[in-house]
Amino acid sequence: MLQVENLTKHYPARGRGLFTRDPRRVRAVDGVSFEVKAGEVVAVVGESGCGKSTLGRLAIRLLEPTSGSIRLGGTDITSLKGEALREIRLTAQIVFQDPFGSLNPRMTVGASIAYPLRVNRLFGRADGAAIARRVDELLERVGLNAAHARRLPHELSGGQRQRVGIARAIAVNPKLLVLDEPVAALDLSAQARVLNLFKELQREMGMAYLFITHDLSVAEYMADRILVMYAGKLVETGGRLALFQAPRHPYTQALFSAAMLRSGRASEETILEGDPPSPIDPLPGCRFNTRCPHAGEVCRAAEPAMSALDDGHGAACHLLTGKLRRSG
Ligand code: SF4
Repeated sequence: MLQVENLTKHYPARGRGLFTRDPRRVRAVDGVSFEVKAGEVVAVVGESGCGKSTLGRLAIRLLEPTSGSIRLGGTDITSLKGEALREIRLTAQIVFQDPFGSLNPRMTVGASIAYPLRVNRLFGRADGAAIARRVDELLERVGLNAAHARRLPHELSGGQRQRVGIARAIAVNPKLLVLDEPVAALDLSAQARVLNLFKELQREMGMAYLFITHDLSVAEYMADRILVMYAGKLVETGGRLALFQAPRHPYTQALFSAAMLRSGRASEETILEGDPPSPIDPLPGCRFNTRCPHAGEVCRAAEPAMSALDDGHGAACHLLTGKLRRSG
């Protein structure tokens, strides 16, 4: 469904005074490759600022990549433009974290949901009645009702607004949804209901999800596979169960340790000291080396490549590929 190869997004850094151009580059996403199969739920997890939201937007060309390639449904969309890009975009939609920010405050719920149907002329030029029927159907599908179509976003609760965002995203029958922290702004009970709605929709419509979340319990509940991201790079990939039961990369082990401790699958929590490195012109070597308890000379000198491990995980770590001996 989605194949991403060596994707990068670099920005010019801003920070050397008002009138001098800063030559440094922010490497928000740096050489990321992965795929999402049809009907699969792939979660991208990592600390805030690791580049996971940027990755989600790049994957469906809401942001222009600096380099790399993206195939969506078998079509190379890396440099598609105009009508061709608009058409292929019907295949992939996004649900944002903040439903309030992503809905026009002056547009009724019905008009917001009808918008993608109208601009993509899915019901011919002026078939208002068919569009209205489809809007009602979508509202019901996400657990709202026809009366909500006349409301404005501020008249709804956070959970209801997010349901409107979901209705708008599925209106064009996409094959892939990018879900960018879609429950992070909701209270716990609304979170559970919206996650269950995502599960039902996925089962019924067979959509694939690229599910971006900082919340490991959400990833554990939703994902078939998990991609762990650190400082703009993927550090480990694997099936959900395998990753939660036996994370291999030192960063994944630390990130998952609190969740594993809570569920009794670990005896102690690993506390990560320090902060992630700056994404501005990062130093050579493994980006995790400043926080990794196993870091050695090779980690500071050479960047580890993503390699397939014997248990099916992928990991980028010299320790796991035998280039570094475990200390202690
Ligand atoms: Fe730690 Fe080295 Fe592995 Fe990076 S490559 S995670 S620094 S052991």
